[in-house]
Amino acid sequence: MSCLQDPRGPSCRLIVVCYRTSDPTYQVKRFVRLPPGGRSVVDNCMSFENLGLPAELLCAIRELGYTEPTPIQRGAIPSVHEGRDLLAAAQTGTGKTAAFALPLLQRLSEQESRPSGRRAPRVLVLVPTRELAAQVGESFKDFGRHLHQRTILVFGGVSPRPQIDALRQGVDIVVATPGRLLDHANERAIDLSQIQTLVLDEADRMLDMGFIRDIRRVIGLLPSDRQNLLFSATFSDEIRTLAHGLLRNPLTVEVSPRNATAERVEHRVHIVQQADKRSVLSHLLRQGSTPQTLVFTRTKHGANRLSDQLARDGIQTVAIHGNKSQSARTRALADFKDYKVQVLVATDIAARGLDINELPLVVNYELPHVPEDYVHRIGRTGRAGCAGQALSLVCDDERSRLRAIEKVLGQPIRVLPLDRSVIAGKRESEGQPARKAFIPRVDRQQQSAQHPRRHVNQSNRGGRRRRAVG
Ligand code: AMP
Repeated sequence: MSCLQDPRGPSCRLIVVCYRTSDPTYQVKRFVRLPPGGRSVVDNCMSFENLGLPAELLCAIRELGYTEPTPIQRGAIPSVHEGRDLLAAAQTGTGKTAAFALPLLQRLSEQESRPSGRRAPRVLVLVPTRELAAQVGESFKDFGRHLHQRTILVFGGVSPRPQIDALRQGVDIVVATPGRLLDHANERAIDLSQIQTLVLDEADRMLDMGFIRDIRRVIGLLPSDRQNLLFSATFSDEIRTLAHGLLRNPLTVEVSPRNATAERVEHRVHIVQQADKRSVLSHLLRQGSTPQTLVFTRTKHGANRLSDQLARDGIQTVAIHGNKSQSARTRALADFKDYKVQVLVATDIAARGLDINELPLVVNYELPHVPEDYVHRIGRTGRAGCAGQALSLVCDDERSRLRAIEKVLGQPIRVLPLDRSVIAGKRESEGQPARKAFIPRVDRQQQSAQHPRRHVNQSNRGGRRRRAVG
């Protein structure tokens, strides 16, 4: 732990704490007011009880199986409960939803009870995608199961009518995507005049998706005296500008699961010609024993095409992307989570924020344009202390992208040679002449030395013995 002088006063220090919990190492930075001559009040043994949460929330936490707060929860919960603004550098997988949902539910429950009829919302959570809205809404409902606060979801792609009816019945917490929220506001279907807390969740992704004007319009509809909480995985100049205009004397909490994720996830690359990618993936999926695989493509069209092709190869697959109707997206995700389909093919936007329990494998069918997206993609696996695998199929054109990703990760990714029979055999089975697999010289040299037992073995194909992909 290290301390820096806080320019705001001699009794404050910026405490940088490295926690080691059942989760990997996290770093939390926070300004704390020290008692005269005192020591840090940040305590890495802090329990949920010590965070001052009421019995109803502690009960729900126990029922959900959480045993100890994550670093961001320890860092943020007391201050959010006090009403302080927050700037949090955290991404999905750190426990950030509970870090704001628990103290906000606590505060709402402490306020005077309001008539059960039509009541305006007091907490507004803005999120970039419908899937994240559903997840965050679910968390509020899970944590608040022994309280009486009402949460509703507001997002596009579905009929507005049920949302309008739900708003009429009175609500405490609204979790919304910006566009549909503004539609309701324009129609006067929602009263935002009682909002006490605004949460911007995954703010960086909202800006990436071009929501900045919508966000500013929403902010313009809120009371100026309110608490603001901003969560972002990355801090671009745009986010800093937004934070600067929005937050007053915020507590800054930074958890950095990036390297932690990288440590927990086994990263591998296969160098594959573009034309061979689909057959290689298909082959690996059929040989592997992973019950769930999330596959990323760069485009919606590519996701559809790959999903159709894998389905033709006999692999149960669904695609999820922004052109799908909301009901199709919800069904696809539910089927994947319930193990009804083995493979979910997704674009970056659709998969952002997805929380899939113990997802064992993420495949980058194509590397993302933006290297940071690799971190978001693989962040879907290796969560909650579980091991995960990230496999990237990289063609020659993508080598510069691979280098950029390695730079972001701060470590090289192991390139594992593919047994050429994976490609040759597949081509023969498709009635095409077997073509020599593209195996770069360096990989051929590594082939015998590196993890020989990991190589996909053609003799295993279709056999009873199944093993992990790759
Ligand atoms: P989030 O960062 O909010 O997307 O949370 C990621 C996952 O961590 C979710 O599945 C949560 O249920 C889980 N989670 C959140 N807080 C805790 C905790 N204190 N202990 C164990 N799991 C947690």
